[in-house]
Amino acid sequence: MPLHIATPLIESPFLSRAANCPVWLKLEALQPPGSFKLRGIGAACEEHLRRGARRFLSSSGGNAGLAVAYAGRRLSLPVTVVVPETTSRRTVELLHLEQAQVIVHGSSWHEANLLAQSMIEPTDAFIHPFDDPLLWEGHASLIDEVASAGPTPDAVVLSVGGGGLLCGVIEGLRRNRLGHVPVIAVETAGTASLNQSLRAGKIVDLEAITGVATSLGAKRVCEQAFRWSQEHPVRSVVVSDRAALAACERFLADHRLLVEPACGASLALAYERAEALVGLRRVLFIVCGGATASLDQIRAWAAGLP
Ligand SMILES: *Cc1c(COP(=O)(O)O)cnc(C)c1O
Repeated sequence: MPLHIATPLIESPFLSRAANCPVWLKLEALQPPGSFKLRGIGAACEEHLRRGARRFLSSSGGNAGLAVAYAGRRLSLPVTVVVPETTSRRTVELLHLEQAQVIVHGSSWHEANLLAQSMIEPTDAFIHPFDDPLLWEGHASLIDEVASAGPTPDAVVLSVGGGGLLCGVIEGLRRNRLGHVPVIAVETAGTASLNQSLRAGKIVDLEAITGVATSLGAKRVCEQAFRWSQEHPVRSVVVSDRAALAACERFLADHRLLVEPACGASLALAYERAEALVGLRRVLFIVCGGATASLDQIRAWAAGLP
């Protein structure tokens, strides 16, 4: 039994109407730790346990850390998560609820990650949030579920941070003979590491990560994500923070599910009737979820926009 659950795949009358094409949702927001990340991270943790790991380490103050904490509790291994001081109180609380040891260190992820790296013992497994083939293989299971459910989508919409979800979805499409199905890869303007790399024709580092989609905040995408974007039909789209936040509000009203702006970014394509969707007859949106933002936080972000 894997640690993740098989999630519902439902048609959305709300997003279909907004987008003017049939929209299907894969509800990864319903994974126990609140995001798709459990698929890959759960699989990776199980594999590391088989190989003899005695502790899981993470430096993610976001959904990856939450997934590692959940996996560790389920597998009865201790988990240590080193997070920067910028991590929300809510996230630290959620990590504690999963019985993880939380070390708050440094003013940015870089410093937290350095400390975490310095703590690695021979019997520890350090779980990367996106750049690991074990993760991609685990994420691919969500496409296995879509493929066995029936009709083929004619495009998949997903959000891109470091590109782990993108790698997993493309791996899943390929292993289900759906290698022709295009992926629409969505980022916010302040986190557009894939978009900028595609424009430059090579992987580039963002100078800074800005805006509200904190879970998309990787300074550079992993190499495999860039490589896939050359070999698989991948279309890159950038949305504003405003659109991502508005999508969170509308999705909550429509489907009664609260997701992070990282996920709202994808949903915004439907709510804004994006040109990328024109002519499609069955679009699959990966509702990647995210547990780190409260409704108050989302509204405060929206109120703070210029
Ligand atoms: C991690 C995350 C993403 C981005 O996934 P990557 O694998 O880093 O591209 C998107 N949405 C949510 C909610 C996440 O937690």
